[in-house]
Amino acid sequence: MKEKTDKENTIEEEKDIVEEKTKNKKTKTKKKLNKKNLSILGIVLGSFILLIIVFFIFFVPKLSLLGDKVVKVEYGEKYKEPGYKASYLGKDLTEKVWIEGKVDESKLGTYVLKYKVRKNKITATKERKVEIVDTVKPELTLTGETEKKLCPKEEYKEEGFTATDNYDGELTEKVTTNVTDEKIDYVVSDSSGNKATATRTFIREDTEGPVITLKGDGTIYVVVNSKYNEPGYTAKDKCEGDLTSSVKVTGTVNTGTIGTYKLTYTAADSLNNTTTKTRNVVVQNSYSKVSSNYTCGKAGVIYLTFDDGPNPTYTKKILDVLKKYKVKATFFVLGSKVNSYKDLIKREVNEGHAVGIHTWSHEYSQVYKSSEAFWDEVTRTRNAIKNVSGYDSKLLRFPGGVSNTVSRHYSTGIMTRLANEALAKGYSYFDWNISSGDAGGTTDPNVEYRNVIYSLSKSRGNVVLMHDIKGHTANAIESIVKYGLDHGYTFEVLDSSVICRQGINN
Ligand code: ZN
Repeated sequence: MKEKTDKENTIEEEKDIVEEKTKNKKTKTKKKLNKKNLSILGIVLGSFILLIIVFFIFFVPKLSLLGDKVVKVEYGEKYKEPGYKASYLGKDLTEKVWIEGKVDESKLGTYVLKYKVRKNKITATKERKVEIVDTVKPELTLTGETEKKLCPKEEYKEEGFTATDNYDGELTEKVTTNVTDEKIDYVVSDSSGNKATATRTFIREDTEGPVITLKGDGTIYVVVNSKYNEPGYTAKDKCEGDLTSSVKVTGTVNTGTIGTYKLTYTAADSLNNTTTKTRNVVVQNSYSKVSSNYTCGKAGVIYLTFDDGPNPTYTKKILDVLKKYKVKATFFVLGSKVNSYKDLIKREVNEGHAVGIHTWSHEYSQVYKSSEAFWDEVTRTRNAIKNVSGYDSKLLRFPGGVSNTVSRHYSTGIMTRLANEALAKGYSYFDWNISSGDAGGTTDPNVEYRNVIYSLSKSRGNVVLMHDIKGHTANAIESIVKYGLDHGYTFEVLDSSVICRQGINN
């Protein structure tokens, strides 16, 4: 077959051309056929679509929703139906619409509402989704300070916290904490993933020195050539606890030489916050430098003094007599009675009498156990008198007088100290140079009367000790006042110019 003749070749070529032509003819016919089919399909489809459109225009009722297709409602709020519209061929059908499905606002979730309207046995349907959501984060509250001051190495003791959620309720147990030396972070999430956080920061510092407390009085009196016994002290530090052993005492007391010596107590913590306290040690003669003085005021003057009151019966009776004769006296009252007999205290002040302080309790074991105890009672009594009457008294009478020895049972040398302190604090204390004997010597008003009048003297002042808690004193007072007036005495109240001090025995 390799060697073909020209003729043979020509025949084959012609054959090919014929075949090609036939092929082209066939394709053209096929294309014509396809075109025809397509247009038929188009017409059918078009008519069908037209039919559907017509169907929708003329037979199906129109239904449309107002508002969004998906409505989000915050938990706790009410779902408000945004509305809908329905019509058929221009006729309003809205009233015929019914809704299937319900929204439960008390529960988070997605609710589907189906809106339906029916006409010509054809139902139109639309859907709306209502989501009840919780986007509010829980409330996380810390108990105690959010900026907490702590000592440098102090461990923080949790003061507490609470967490509540508008949907989940109590969430305190779900709170997680992250604790470091500088702060605590608190985190809590609700079931919807809303997260609340809080932080408590620590301010770690120690700038306070230890607190030094001295045992015994701030001023201690020592008799010359005796021994000074240090009563002791404590030191407590806020951050480091008991530091008593670190206290250094400087200064010396020379009990061989009369004078005032200062002791300084110094304490420091590890950060060198330092505190100091001082104590005076007074080395003195065995008895006070406060000398006894019996001049007891101006010559020819009677200073009536009434102790231990007021008393609702006798003080009143005495005040009536004093008023009748227009004479003035001094009442050394007990603080413990002031508030019970406010009117009598007020009356004493208003009628021109002096009101003095005779301590709160008059209990020797109490008032003479220490300087602090004594001045505490004096201050309380002074304040009580002031509150009731407005009268600020600095007149003082020691229970038992300054010369009493009973105080020795409770504190050695206390009368010496108190007498000095009284003068140093600006108080005037008064004893007496005439005793009516009403506190134990007699219960007879006539004896009491004689006790007083036989002791009166024109050449000095006359400070008379009486008690307005005694019936016989109330009965004796008129005759004593009368005697004084009839014999040219005048009556005055005590003031700081009068010095009437007995000797000190303790
Ligand atoms: Zn008394």
